[in-house]
Amino acid sequence: KENLLEIRNLAIHYMAEDGTVRAVEDMNLEVGTGETLGLVGETGAGKTTTALGIMQLVPNPPGKIVDGEIFFEGEDLLKKNQQELRKIRGNKISMIFQDPMTSLNPVMTVGDQIGEVIKLHQKVNAKEALIKAQEMLEKVGIPGARAKDYPHQFSGGMRQRVVIAIALACNPALLIADEPTTALDVTIQAQVLELMKNLKKEFKTSMIMITHDLGIVADICDKVAIMYAGKVVEYTDKRSLFTAPKHPYTVGLFNSIPNIEEDEDRLKPIKGLMPDPTNLPSGCPFHPRCPKATEECSKRVPKATEVEPGHYVNCLLYEK
Ligand code: SF4
Repeated sequence: KENLLEIRNLAIHYMAEDGTVRAVEDMNLEVGTGETLGLVGETGAGKTTTALGIMQLVPNPPGKIVDGEIFFEGEDLLKKNQQELRKIRGNKISMIFQDPMTSLNPVMTVGDQIGEVIKLHQKVNAKEALIKAQEMLEKVGIPGARAKDYPHQFSGGMRQRVVIAIALACNPALLIADEPTTALDVTIQAQVLELMKNLKKEFKTSMIMITHDLGIVADICDKVAIMYAGKVVEYTDKRSLFTAPKHPYTVGLFNSIPNIEEDEDRLKPIKGLMPDPTNLPSGCPFHPRCPKATEECSKRVPKATEVEPGHYVNCLLYEK
C-alpha cells in the first residue's frame, strides 16, 4: 500500500562555530495511513530535528536539509515553495509540542483559537466556527462552555487537550507529537495518551510520536525507529522491537527501564554519554558505549541491514 509519508536518505546539518553537527543522517522511514510511528531516543539524538525537517521549519541558518527527499501523499515536500508549504502545515500536517503554552495565544479565548483554525480551512462564519470549536473541545473532554475561557484558566493537562483540539480541528492527515505528555504529571499523562489513541481511531490520523519513553511506544505506536546520534539504529514494528530487540543500544534501553516504583527518570541511559555531535566517534558512533563493540567497530560505519522482512538494524554484528 502507498505510504502517507516516506523519508528517503534525509540528512539535516547545523553549521556550528566548532564544526558541522550532523543532526540527522541517512534517514529512511515510512508512515502508512492511520499508522503511528514512534521516534525514540535520548535528548540530542535528532528526533525533534526530524520533525522540524518534515515541517520544513529547520531554522536556516544555522540548519539546512542537505540531502534526501520527504514524500508526503506522493509529492516531495522539499520541492514545494513557501506558499504551498503554508497550506500543508497546520492543515494536512499538524504538530504538538511539549509545552502547550508555546502554541497557545495567552490573550485569546480557546474557543476563538480553535475557531480560527476552523475558519482557515472551512467556509463557515464566526458563529458556526464557535459551535464547531465547542464540539472539538467536547471531543477532547472539555465542556464546550469553556470556549470563552483563556489559556491561563486551564491546568497543564487541560491546556494540552486544547492544543490537541486545535491540532485536530483541521483534520490533518499527519499529526507530529513532540513529547506531548512529558511536561504533565503521570496520571494526566495517561489520560492525554488515552485521548490521543481514541482520537487517532476516530479521525484516522497518522501519527509520529516523539518520545524517550518506551512505555508510550508500547501503548500507542505501531512501529518504532530508535535514534542514536542522528541515525536510525533500529527500525521495525512494535512487536519485533519488544520481543526481539537487536541493536545493542536498543537492548540497553530495555535494560535501563527502572521499576515503576521509582518513576523518576524513566529512561536511565546506558553507561556513558551521547557523543559530542560536532565530533562523532569514528566507525559506529555508539562504539565507546557499546558492550558488544569489537575493534572493527571504531573503523567501519555500519549500514542498515534488513535482518528480517521490515526489521532494519544498523550494527556491524548483523552485516554479512
Ligand atoms: Fe556495537 Fe559495533 Fe554494533 Fe556499533 S557496530 S552497535 S559498536 S557492535
